[in-house]
Amino acid sequence: MILFGYRQSVKELARLMMQCRSCGMQGWQVVYRVLTWFTLFFIPVLPLWVSRKQQCGTCGITQKVSKEEADAMVAHAANAPRY
Ligand SMILES: [Zn+2]
Repeated sequence: MILFGYRQSVKELARLMMQCRSCGMQGWQVVYRVLTWFTLFFIPVLPLWVSRKQQCGTCGITQKVSKEEADAMVAHAANAPRY
């Protein structure tokens, strides 16, 4: 018997203060990358796809963002002063 499935690993890329596209409030937005793995006997063996998401710290909504948008937010967070 072969056990296979999927697993997701999440990595936070950046955390920045900006306006939410959903609730319109200025607040912390967390940008993270979700990597979906194909697993064999619960061991991740093959990365299948990558998506990038943004979560609003105010309303909690999670929205999918493109790689370009995520990269721009990461660059912006790296240049912004620390709070
Ligand atoms: Zn929001």
